[in-house]
Amino acid sequence: MSQIRVRVVGAGFSGAVAARLLAERGAWVELWDKRAHIGGNAFDTQDDHGVWMHPYGPHIFHTQSQKVFDWLSRFTEWRPYEHRVKASVDGKLVPMPINRTTINQLYNLDLDEAGVEAFFASVRQPYHPPANSEQAVWSCVGQDLCDKLYRGYTRKQWGRDLSELSASVVTRIPVRTNDDDRYFSDAYQYMPKDGYTAMFERILDHSHITLRLNHPFDPTDAAHKAGCDALVYSGPVDAYFQYTYGALPYRSLRFEHTHHTNTDPYQPTAVVNFPNEQAYTRVTEWKHMTGQVCSGTTLTYEYPTDVGEPFYPVPSDASQQQFDRYKVLCEAQENVVFIGRLAEYRYYNMDQAVASALAKSSALASRLGLMAEGV
Ligand code: FAD
Repeated sequence: MSQIRVRVVGAGFSGAVAARLLAERGAWVELWDKRAHIGGNAFDTQDDHGVWMHPYGPHIFHTQSQKVFDWLSRFTEWRPYEHRVKASVDGKLVPMPINRTTINQLYNLDLDEAGVEAFFASVRQPYHPPANSEQAVWSCVGQDLCDKLYRGYTRKQWGRDLSELSASVVTRIPVRTNDDDRYFSDAYQYMPKDGYTAMFERILDHSHITLRLNHPFDPTDAAHKAGCDALVYSGPVDAYFQYTYGALPYRSLRFEHTHHTNTDPYQPTAVVNFPNEQAYTRVTEWKHMTGQVCSGTTLTYEYPTDVGEPFYPVPSDASQQQFDRYKVLCEAQENVVFIGRLAEYRYYNMDQAVASALAKSSALASRLGLMAEGV
């Protein structure tokens, strides 16, 4: 029986997956989280009206990775869910990402697929490669659609103009010439049948895992790093190194929740984007997403802000260069593994966080001489 002890900081996707993998390979794992609950930002719960919702913003699971899907399927059944979003523009609710319907509705046209392709060809301003998000959007759909659907939303979301953000921010959003109005194109699009928190409870249900909630890790406290053979850290990387190279920029969100007693859906899709005319970026109506049948409906309005929980690493050249300096410090740490959205300072989706945690904790298990997988 192994006596290897690993401390894992953070009980979100990254930390929970690492904890489970290491425990199954024989390590004794202590999992700490400063919050009072597991699941990190994917945590879900019921509000005061009994409506299931995600307090840290809507989380939709989608992936191309069969490996990630199969691994999580050990801990949950799934409910098929294809996410759809409308954007409120010029007094109309149009599909987002842009598709044939979006173009026809916005410009009062009746184009077929070939017509939409020709439309895009006539408005595109190609940049090879685009140097920033503005050039990436112009390359794809031209200036007018950029101003209608992207510029205002980005300015609210990131507090910066499109031209100040790296191209990667917008290249993840597809643009279509057909009527496909799904937000994602991935092969696997599901929600955990009993919710994310229930899935996390099952991931962490292992005799080698001890969970300590309300337990903040303090990198300046030597005792917090002692008493274990390795540390897996999924908190903010700049905090770990006591902001040696300054605080990395993050965007956060302030949420406003409203409940309506009427039972009919309030909006046509789970999420409606407001790129231009409101201070909030988007509104989520939870029952579309969770599939819950209940009287009344709860909506959440998102207001982006610079203060609060670090949600989104800001994808700019300057922040990447700042992070690169922290990365050198990470690589010099012995038996400390940095994983996840905050420690790797990367705009990870849930599936990417899982894939990274599986790879990095598996490599750590081998380095620690733990049992091989499947033993
Ligand atoms: P987190 O979930 O942030 O977990 C980190 C954990 O570490 C937290 O529980 C935190 O409390 C804990 N922690 C931090 N510091 C300390 C410390 N010092 N001591 C102890 N504990 C600490 N992804 C998708 O795939 N689909 C979506 O639809 C989607 N929507 C999103 C919407 C929003 C608003 C946000 C913010 C993210 C969204 N994501 C989505 C991304 C998803 O949340 C992340 O991929 C995922 O949460 C990453 O998991 P993580 O464990 O790396 O980080």
